[in-house]
Amino acid sequence: MNKTIKVAALLGAVALMATPLAAKKIKWKLAETWPSTLTPLASPPAKVAALVKEMTDGKFIIKVEGKEKHKAPLGILDMVKGGQYQMGHSGSYYWKGKDINTVWFTTVPFGMTPSEQYAWFYYGNGKKYMKEVYDKFGVYNYPGGNTGNQMGGWFRKEIKTPADLKGLKMRIPGLAGEVMAKLGVNVTNIPAGELYTSLDRGTIDALEWVGPGMDIKMGFYKVAPYYYTGWHEPASEMQFMVNKKAFDKLPKNYQVILETAMKAASFDMYVENFAASVDAWAKMKKDYPNIKVRTFPPAVIKALKKAADEVYAGYAAKNAKFKEIYTDYEAYMKKAREWTMMMQGGYLKLNEELAK
Ligand code: CA
Repeated sequence: MNKTIKVAALLGAVALMATPLAAKKIKWKLAETWPSTLTPLASPPAKVAALVKEMTDGKFIIKVEGKEKHKAPLGILDMVKGGQYQMGHSGSYYWKGKDINTVWFTTVPFGMTPSEQYAWFYYGNGKKYMKEVYDKFGVYNYPGGNTGNQMGGWFRKEIKTPADLKGLKMRIPGLAGEVMAKLGVNVTNIPAGELYTSLDRGTIDALEWVGPGMDIKMGFYKVAPYYYTGWHEPASEMQFMVNKKAFDKLPKNYQVILETAMKAASFDMYVENFAASVDAWAKMKKDYPNIKVRTFPPAVIKALKKAADEVYAGYAAKNAKFKEIYTDYEAYMKKAREWTMMMQGGYLKLNEELAK
C-alpha cells in the first residue's frame, strides 16, 4: 500500500468513526388518519418524508402509509405508542376518549383563531401543556398543519331555530360534538373515507368536514345543500406524533432535521388549504348554484355558545388539568382577541368602508 492510499484509508476510517450513526440507514414508517391522496391533510407527512430524505442524502427514509393501507384511521395514537409505527399524522381531538385535554391542541368551539392559537402554543403555555398531556402516551407531539377557521357543515335542511337541531344525526368530532349533543343532536365521528357514503345513505343527516377547498370535491352538496359558516373549529391544527424511544435513538442532527421538516410542512399545509379554499369559494357560486350558504341565526348561535360554556364548566369541575388549561386558554384568548380585533378587524373594516 503506498503512502497516498494509506492516508486516504485512514481519513475514511476517521470519517466513519466520527459519524457512526449517520452512516447507518434509518427506515421509519408513518401512519396517517387520512387516505394518502386526501390533500391538503395528507400533504404534511409526504412533505416531511421528502424533506428528511433529501436533507440526509437518502439515509433517513420515512415510508408514509395512508388509511387505505393500515385500515385504522382512528387508531394512530395507539399504533405510534405501541411502536408499530414510529410516526403518525392525525388530529389531537380524536383522542378525547383517552384524555379530554387532547382537544386543546386541535381547536375548541368559540376558541382562538390560528394566529392567536399559534401565539399561545409557541409563546404562551400551549406547548408546555401539550407535553404534559402526551407524556403518558410515550409519544412526542408537534403541530401538523392548520386548516384555519372551518365551515360549520352541510345540512339537508335549513336550521332556523335550535329546535331544528333536535334528533339530527350529525358527524362532528371533538368538543363541538358534545355541544351539539346538548342541543339534542345524535353525534358521531366518521373517518374521511366514509363521509360521503354515510351522508348519501342517510346514516347521518349532516356533517362538518373542513372548508370549501376540501368539502366541495367530496360532493356533500349533492345530498346536503345548506352550507353553514363555522363556530366550532376556528383553528384546527393537525398533529404529528413521534414515538419517544425511536426519536431519542436518532442522531442529534436527524432530530433537528425531522423537527425542522415537520414545522416547514405544517406551514405549507396552512397555506395550501387556504389557497384551495380561496379558489373553491371563488368558483362555487357559478359552478355549484344549488349550494346555499347560511350563517346560523343568532338564537342558534346563542344556544350553541350556552351549551359550549356548560360543556367547558362540566369538564373543569371534574378534571383539574382541564380547568388549568381552560383558564389559561381563556385568559390568553381574551388578551389576544383585543389585538386581533384592533389589527385584523380594524383593517378589514377599513377596507369594507373603502369598498362602499
Ligand atoms: Ca372539521
